Amino acid sequence: MKIAVLSRNKNLYSTRRLVESGRERGHEVHVIDALRCYMKIVSHKPEIHYRGENLDGFDAVIPRIGASITFYGTAVLRQFEMMGVYPLNESVAITRSRDKLRAHQLLARKGIGMPVTGFAHSPDDTKDLMQLVGGAPLVIKLLEGTQGVGVVLAETQQAGESVIEAFRGLNAYILLQEFIKEAGGADIRCFVIGEKVVAAMRRQGKDGEFRSNLHRGGTAEKVRITPEERSTAVRAAKIMGLNVAGVDILRSNHGPVVMEVNSSPGLEGIETITGKDVAALIYQFIERNGKFGRTGTRGR
Ligand code: ADP
Ligand code: GLU
Repeated sequence: MKIAVLSRNKNLYSTRRLVESGRERGHEVHVIDALRCYMKIVSHKPEIHYRGENLDGFDAVIPRIGASITFYGTAVLRQFEMMGVYPLNESVAITRSRDKLRAHQLLARKGIGMPVTGFAHSPDDTKDLMQLVGGAPLVIKLLEGTQGVGVVLAETQQAGESVIEAFRGLNAYILLQEFIKEAGGADIRCFVIGEKVVAAMRRQGKDGEFRSNLHRGGTAEKVRITPEERSTAVRAAKIMGLNVAGVDILRSNHGPVVMEVNSSPGLEGIETITGKDVAALIYQFIERNGKFGRTGTRGR
């Protein structure tokens, strides 16, 4: 198959693995930087050009669209879809999961377990807002944060009020969550492909840190997940419409709760920790499902 990996940087571990693994399997794999693509938007024969050339004849596209280029990256992916190229994850599903408020509402609507969550922008009544999610201790997050930046644990009512007041001045969206203390600073990353969790790891924050992000000094290990965790992860990915997803789960007293569904989960941590060839499993999925013309969003 002729396959495009939409990625800004061919040296990133995940991109390298996708190129290497695809070529080993006999595919023609090209790395395409979405920001360098320009497009002709017409109903008959839409085109994408790249460095002066017409991108033609692709069977499938693997989107690895970074959070900072979601807007343009999903537009380029949509254009591939209009041309009949099969997307590993379709543009609508990526947009849906990138919007954390929308994603939370969709998951809640379908009965997926989640920490009790509140959203606000510039709330007038901080006390009532905190009460809505059960009061302190609670976790307060800036909607735009990644890798644990902008995620704060407020242990007391007083601390919570100060944080919310400080965040209000930033003109940002705020997410408040029940603190899942019993998770003990750990979370579980489930790597979902299709209807399966193909690999899982447990990430643990360093001592005294409730955030398990590896970028915050956390460590990871292989983990066996329960059938309930497995089905929760698969359902969450499915609700988002993602064929490939990284579903982050906390182990709470009332079962697994989903924190986030990531549409471009990294391969480095999960492959290193679990020893699984996740890139090959992604290709197996594409080889089985990636038929030209089988795009999810055409005309919708
Ligand atoms: P980011 O998307 O920036 O990584 P997260 O929302 O995933 O931010 O939070 C970072 C980490 O903080 C999580 O991996 C988890 O370990 C911890 N955490 C987040 N929310 C909660 C919560 N409600 N209860 C307990 N721990 C949490
Ligand atoms: N048709 C809507 C969409 O594809 C569904 C709503 C949703 O999933 O957010 O965007």
